[in-house]
Amino acid sequence: MFGKDVEIPFLDKKIETAPREEIERIQLAGLKNQIKAALRTDFYRKKYKDLGITEDTVSTLDDIRKLPFTTKNDLRDAYPFGLLAVPKDDVVRLHASSGTTGAATVIYLTQKDLDMAADTMARSLRAAGCSRQDILQNMMTYGLFTGGLGLHYGAEKLGMMVVPTSSGNTIRQIKFMKDFGTTVVHATPSYLLHLHAAIEESGSLRSDFKLRKAIAGAEPHSEELRRKIERTLGIEVYNNYGMSEMNGPGPAIECVFRNGMHIWEDRYIAEIIDPETLEPVPEGETGELVLTILCRDAMPLIRYRTRDLTRFITEPCECGRTHRKIARLTGRTDDMLIINGVNVFPSQIEEVLLRTKGVGANYFIIVDKNGVLDKLTVQVEITPEMFADDSRLINALRDRLRSEMAALITINPVVEIKQPGSLPVSEGKAKRVDDRRPKD
Ligand code: ADP
Ligand code: ZN
Repeated sequence: MFGKDVEIPFLDKKIETAPREEIERIQLAGLKNQIKAALRTDFYRKKYKDLGITEDTVSTLDDIRKLPFTTKNDLRDAYPFGLLAVPKDDVVRLHASSGTTGAATVIYLTQKDLDMAADTMARSLRAAGCSRQDILQNMMTYGLFTGGLGLHYGAEKLGMMVVPTSSGNTIRQIKFMKDFGTTVVHATPSYLLHLHAAIEESGSLRSDFKLRKAIAGAEPHSEELRRKIERTLGIEVYNNYGMSEMNGPGPAIECVFRNGMHIWEDRYIAEIIDPETLEPVPEGETGELVLTILCRDAMPLIRYRTRDLTRFITEPCECGRTHRKIARLTGRTDDMLIINGVNVFPSQIEEVLLRTKGVGANYFIIVDKNGVLDKLTVQVEITPEMFADDSRLINALRDRLRSEMAALITINPVVEIKQPGSLPVSEGKAKRVDDRRPKD
C-alpha cells in the first residue's frame, strides 16, 4: 500500500525523522528538566535528597541509571498531591488510571501539559494514517480514564471530526457509525470483536459503513486477534499503547506499516529492564518497559516501571521515523499466572484460541485449587455456526484446544465450551482472568 512513491503521513516530519543524536540531545535536556521539576515535589525531594541527586547527577543519557525507579506503589504513597511540581492553581485537569491492579493512581496536567498531550496524540493518530478528513468515533469511556478525553483532544487537534459516543450502547454505536459515516473507531480489541458480532446480528451490510481503521489499545492482544478483527470487520487495526501515568494513549503507536509501535522519544525516554535484576536487557530482548515522561510540568515521573513486557524492535522502520519501536506487549509482569510452578501468560492461551476455527469472540480463564494442585479452566465461546453443528465436532474442538494449549504452556487445562454471547462483555478493559486461589 505504501510503496516508495506514496507519501507516508507525518505530523512533524522534522522531529519524527530527526537524527538519533538530536533526539538524544533533547532527551538529556528533558531529563535534567524533569529532575529539577521532581525536586519541587514532596515525594521526589525527599527521595532524591537522601541519595544526593540533582540535575548534575546526569551528564549523559546513560546516567539515567543513577536515578532510582518509580513504581506504581510510589504513586499510591504520594496520593493525593505528593507528586505535584507546580502550584495547585496551575493544574487544569486530573486523570486517573482504570485501577486494573489496585487503587487508582492520579495524574495532574497544566494547560501546557494538556496541549502537549494533545499534540503527542495528534502525532500518533497521523502516524496511523488519520487526517482531518476522518470521522472518529471514540468508544472508550469518558471520565477519569484517559482513553476517552486523552484521545479526544488529540483527534480534535488533528482536525478530525470526533463523535464522543464513549463506551457501551452498542446499538447506538452501530447507528452512529452508519449515520455519520464513521471512518475510524477507537476501542479495546475485545470491544471490536463484540462490535463485529453485534453488526452481524443487526443484519447490516459492510456497504452500510465507511469504517476503514480502528485504533486499538488499553489491553493486551495478540497479533492473531488483530488479524481476526481486520478480517472480520474489513479494516486496518493499529496497536496503540499508553497509560494514564504517561498522559494516556499517546506515547506509542504503529505507523502505517503496522509492525511495532514507535515511541515518541523526544517526549519519553524508554528503557527495557529485567524485572528481577533491574538491569537493562540486551537490545531486542523482552523485559519490563520503564518510561520517563519529558513533556509534563505538573507531575514528573522518572524511570517509571510500567510492569508491561515488551522488547525494542532493532530493525529500522520503512517509514523513516528514527524513534524506536516496541513490539506488541506480551502482558504485564503481574498478569503472569504461576500455575503449579509454571509461568503462564493469558496471551499464550489467547494465541491458541485465535488460531482455531470455530472459536468465538470471548473467553475467560479461571484458576482454582483442586486439593493441593492448581487447576486451570478456560471457558471458550464458540461461533454460532459451530454451536449449531454436530456435538462430535464440538467435542473434537474441545480436545484440540486442550492439547494445543497443553503443548504451549505445558499445563493441561480444562476447556469448557460456551454458547455464543454467554460470557460477560466488559465495556472498558476486558477482565479475562479470575484467580480464585486463596491468597495467603
Ligand atoms: P491501569 O493500570 O489501571 O489499567 P490505565 O488505564 O492507564 O491503567 O492502563 C494502562 C495499561 O493498559 C498499560 O500499562 C498496559 O498494561 C495496558 N495497555 C494499554 N495499551 C495497551 C496495548 N496496546 N497493548 C497491551 N496493553 C496495553
Ligand atoms: Zn514506522
